[in-house]
Amino acid sequence: MSKPIVAIVGRPNVGKSTLFNVLAGEKISIVEDTPGVTRDRIYADVTWLKYDFTIIDTGGIEPESDDEILKHMRTQAQIAIDTADVILFVVDVKQGLVDDDHKVANMLRKARKPVILVVNKVDNFDKLEMDVFEFYNLGLGEPRPVSSASKLGLGDMLDVVVENFPPNMKDEEDDEIPKIAIIGKPNVGKSSLINKILGEERVIVSNIAGTTRDAVDTLVKYNKKDFVFIDTAGLRRKSKIKETLERYSIIRTVAAIERADVAILIIDAEEGITEQDAKIAGIAHERGKGAIIAVNKWDAIEKNDKTMNRFIENIEDKLTYMLYAPKIFISAHTGQRLNRLFEMIEMVIQNQALRVATGPLNDILYEAMALNQPPSDKGKRLKIYYMTQVSIKPPTFVIFVNDKELMHFSYTRYIENKVRESFGFKGTPIHFIVRERK
Ligand code: GDP
Ligand code: GDP
Repeated sequence: MSKPIVAIVGRPNVGKSTLFNVLAGEKISIVEDTPGVTRDRIYADVTWLKYDFTIIDTGGIEPESDDEILKHMRTQAQIAIDTADVILFVVDVKQGLVDDDHKVANMLRKARKPVILVVNKVDNFDKLEMDVFEFYNLGLGEPRPVSSASKLGLGDMLDVVVENFPPNMKDEEDDEIPKIAIIGKPNVGKSSLINKILGEERVIVSNIAGTTRDAVDTLVKYNKKDFVFIDTAGLRRKSKIKETLERYSIIRTVAAIERADVAILIIDAEEGITEQDAKIAGIAHERGKGAIIAVNKWDAIEKNDKTMNRFIENIEDKLTYMLYAPKIFISAHTGQRLNRLFEMIEMVIQNQALRVATGPLNDILYEAMALNQPPSDKGKRLKIYYMTQVSIKPPTFVIFVNDKELMHFSYTRYIENKVRESFGFKGTPIHFIVRERK
C-alpha cells in the first residue's frame, strides 16, 4: 500500500528537525529488529486522524556559507518536489522573512504540488503577531503558525496536510500490476539496468505519466506479463541532481520503496557489500516489501567456482535479517540473467500475496512446539494456543499466547523459520503479531 509522503523543507535553524521529531513522536525511538541499520532521523511514519503517511526531513546539512545555504535549499526543494505529495515549507517568525525564503518559494510555487507554509516559533498564540501575516508575501497562501517547541498549532497544521493528500492515492493501490523499484547507492548500475531492460527486444515499453508524483513510471511487458518500474525520481534524468549526499539518496529510496511491491537492491560486484547497501536494504525490510538482491557488474570481476558462494556468505553476514531475499548475479551491460531476474520478481510477488490456511499453519506450529518447547520464565511457561494469517503484503500472522512477556524474540524467530521451511515465502518479510488470550 502506498502511503502519502510529506517532505519538510526550509532554511537551517528554522526548526525543521524539531518539527519532524514532534510529529514522529515516540515512533522514531522504536528499535527496529534490523540490526546494523542505525536509523537516521530522515523519515518516520505518522498517523493523523484516519491517515497514515511518511514524513521526510530533507534538511540536516550544515552549510558553510550563505551561498551554500541557498544551494542546499534548492536541492532540498527539488528533492521534495520529486518525491513528496505535500511539502511543508518551514519559516521562522523570529528571523522574519528572508530573501532566500522568497527564492525557494518561487521554486515551490512552480512545482504544482501542494505547499503548506508553516511559520514556526510562534510560541505565544494569544497574540498572533503581525509577523506571521508578513509571510503572505511569499505567495504560498495562508501562513500556518506553529510552535514546534511548545507543540502549538500542530493539529490545525496536520488537518491542512491531510486535506491536501491526492484523492487518487487509493486508485493507485487498487490496480493489480506489480510495482518494482530498483534501489541502491549511486553508481551501482541502477540506470544501466533500467536502460537494459527497456532496450530488450522482447520488452514492450510504455510510459505512465502523471501519477500522483512527478515520477514517470514505466509499464513493461515481459513474457506477456505486466510490470511497472518505478522511476526512482530522476533515475533516467539523473543529471539534475547528483546524489553525492547519502541523505538524498536515502530520501529517494524511501519514496520509491513506499510505492513498490518489490525492491531490487543492486550491489556492485566490484565493491562488495557495504554499510550503505545495508542501510538501503534495511528500508525495504522495515517497510515489509518484497526484496531481491542483485549483484551487478558480474561481467567485470574475475571469478572462480567459489566467488559466487563467497559473495552470498558476505551478503548474508551483513544482512542477517534478510536471509529471505533471493540473490542473483547479473550484468546490466551484457544482460546476463535478466530473464531469471524477471522470474524471481514473479516469484516474490506471488509469495507476498501467499495465504496459508489456518489448519496447515497450526500443524506446523504444534510440531514446532513439540520439537522445541516454548520458553518459561520464573516458573511460568509460555503457552501458544494457535496462529492465523491475517493479511498479505507482507504476510502477517497473529499468534495467540497466554502471556506476551514470555514470547521471546528468539522463539518468534524459531517459528518463523519453521513456517518458512514449510511454506517458503521466499523474497518477502513475514510479520508476527503476538496477542494475549486469557
Ligand atoms: P533545523 O536546522 O531547521 O532542523 O532547526 P532545528 O530543529 O535544529 O531548530 C533550530 C533551533 O530552533 C533550535 O535551537 C530549536 O530548539 C529552536 N526551535 C525549534 N522550534 C522552535 C519553536 O517552536 N520555538 C522556539 N522558540 N524555538 C524553536
Ligand atoms: P546508477 O548511479 O546506480 O544509476 O549507476 P549507472 O547505471 O550510472 O552506472 C554506474 C557506472 O557503472 C557506469 O559507468 C556504468 O557503465 C557502470 N556499469 C553499470 N552496470 C554495469 C555492468 O553490468 N558491468 C560493468 N562492467 N559496468 C557497469
